Order: sequence, then structure tokens, then C-alpha cells
Amino acid sequence: MCFYDANEMACKCWKWGEFRQFCVKDSPSGEVCGMKLVMNRYSLPNKCKKCTKIDEKQVIIRQEQDKIRKWRKAADRGESIAKAEEHIRQATTRIENLIQERDEKRNTLA
Ligand SMILES: [Zn+2]
Ligand SMILES: [Zn+2]
Repeated sequence: MCFYDANEMACKCWKWGEFRQFCVKDSPSGEVCGMKLVMNRYSLPNKCKKCTKIDEKQVIIRQEQDKIRKWRKAADRGESIAKAEEHIRQATTRIENLIQERDEKRNTLA
């Protein structure tokens, strides 16, 4: 169980930072054992990649929903609406996957 810094991002996700210290002093091989323990905790101002992507997808969904609302008032926009709805479905599925991946990762680092 070697020691590393841990970085907490704005979205509350974690990622490991710098290696700090071996668990056994004078590690004969000079290699880390593979287990990680937290040495210092730091806060990072940004969100992680996954949460940033989730935010982007949510913006897309809102934009498409806005378009649909406008088009519903106009005639003959059925095709455009169907396309926008497909975009929303895709973005929603992607968000669900990202959230699942993110939460799995959070649990392993908690
Ligand atoms: Zn170790
Ligand atoms: Zn995150």
C-alpha cells in the first residue's frame, strides 16, 4: 500500500495524483506494490472528463428540446423533430453510460 496524493475535482470525482512514498521503507525492487493509499488530498477547480462530457450532453439535450418546442408551432417539421428526438435519445444513453462509469470509478477510489 504505497502512498499517493488524491485529487478531488469540482464534481466530487477523484483521481490519483503524484506518487509519494513506498509502504515498505527501502523497497528492495524500487517498485510500488500496486495498492494505493491517500497521502494528501487536493481540490481541483475543474470537473473530471466524464462529468464535463455529461454537462455537454445535457446542453445538447436542452438545445434540441428548444428546437422541438419551436418546430411544434410550425407545420411540416415532423422530420426535424424526429431527428432532434433521436439526438436526445443518443445523448441520454451516453449520459447514462458516463454516469455508470463515473460512479464505478468513484466507488473504487472512495
Ligand atoms: Zn505499497
Ligand atoms: Zn466527475
